[in-house]
Amino acid sequence: MSTADLSLRDRAALLHPTTHLGRHAAQGPLIIERGEGIHVWDSEGRRYIEGMAGLWCAALGYGVPELAEAAAEQVRKLSYSHLFGSKSHEPAILLAEKLKELAPFSAGKVFFGHSGSDANDTQIKLIWYYNNLIGRPEKKKIIARDRAYHGVTLGAATLTGLAVNHKGFDLPLDYVRRVRCPHFYREGLPGETEEEFSTRLADELEALIVKEGADTIAAFIAEPVMGAGGVVVPPAGYFEKVQAVLERHDILLIDDEVICGFGRTGRWFGSQTLGMRPDTMSLAKALSSGYQPISAVLIPDSMYEVLEAGSKELGVFGHGYTYSGHPVCAAVALKNLELMQQRRVVEHAAAVADRFQSRLRAFADHPLVGEARGVGLIGAVELVSDKASRRGFAAALGVAAYCQARAEAHGLIVRAMGGDTIAFCPPLVVSEADIDELFDRFARALDDTA
Ligand code: PLP
Repeated sequence: MSTADLSLRDRAALLHPTTHLGRHAAQGPLIIERGEGIHVWDSEGRRYIEGMAGLWCAALGYGVPELAEAAAEQVRKLSYSHLFGSKSHEPAILLAEKLKELAPFSAGKVFFGHSGSDANDTQIKLIWYYNNLIGRPEKKKIIARDRAYHGVTLGAATLTGLAVNHKGFDLPLDYVRRVRCPHFYREGLPGETEEEFSTRLADELEALIVKEGADTIAAFIAEPVMGAGGVVVPPAGYFEKVQAVLERHDILLIDDEVICGFGRTGRWFGSQTLGMRPDTMSLAKALSSGYQPISAVLIPDSMYEVLEAGSKELGVFGHGYTYSGHPVCAAVALKNLELMQQRRVVEHAAAVADRFQSRLRAFADHPLVGEARGVGLIGAVELVSDKASRRGFAAALGVAAYCQARAEAHGLIVRAMGGDTIAFCPPLVVSEADIDELFDRFARALDDTA
């Protein structure tokens, strides 16, 4: 079918997720047709470096034959079965075991879903259920951070701290409390060190907990590195100080590893790079390198034991999806993790991260760039109209969106976020030469934007 036909039919049939619908109606889609390695091709045959690994997920890159075979083999053997009411199957069992083996904390049990959003909804429900069972029905509020992104299902969207995901949706926010985003460049005070900034944020968190009453607060949720909020790497000492506060007040730390999990920051989990001690963990995206929709929530045995004992009081644990632990998704995710281990993909990501970060940070000298930041193979540049005052551009100008479009014209897919920020998150299998090519193309896009 021709691109023009597809474009018309797209606009006649699709409601696009997380899209400015008016602009889309006027401009139409960029239709992506196929992918291989770190590249994708559009319907006109143009090739792009996928500098965002799709939506932060295609860790192993595109067109990996072993993953296609794992899917086909499982579809032929058992295309569907479920885990309700004690039914089980091998792919889900083996994947749960693999996640327990890889987890950087003592994960006792694994609950499967299909998206990062539903994983975080599960987190909310599990923690409420758990606190009810241990006789703490008042301990229900969850603290999340400004600019956090935890997804868009009803529960996850309440935790997300981005206006774009709240406007017009009337979300039930009564149980959510918010604290400051740990972005030193934007939130640090003149003369403050990173360490002092972290101390201030921990003090603000503690003041909020004291004001609300620690016996009303169940959990604090955090991404190790904030992704969709603008790739915010927390300042030195941040998690150490935050965790000391949480531990003092008996508040759980939910680690949202949906972007950072499986090598993105140069270790298997972002919590290892950023010094977090999670109580529970959400995983998705690179869990299957985006080849199948699958998510996982990891909980400690101490929590599971309460749930199990609770069946005497509550009967059936009434939470689960038709596709929890879907055998095809689980088989593909398991193969993905095995390939990551065999090919030492996390070690590779760590090895090429220096090149990625040094090329990225060189953009800090560009007149349009206020800050270039990142860790491992994730990063962003924040565009400013005035470097000295750090003034951004009016959102209506669409400067970052223009820069993204120029990057596409130069054969590079990046992601404009929050009006002023451009994110980079390539497949973990990029080589140093690919990284150079990626940033050479971006340099041209930035110069076109200046
Ligand atoms: N949590 C984080 C940190 C994310 O970045 C995302 C998606 O980008 C989500 C949760 C939601 O995941 P999904 O889009 O699969 O629902």
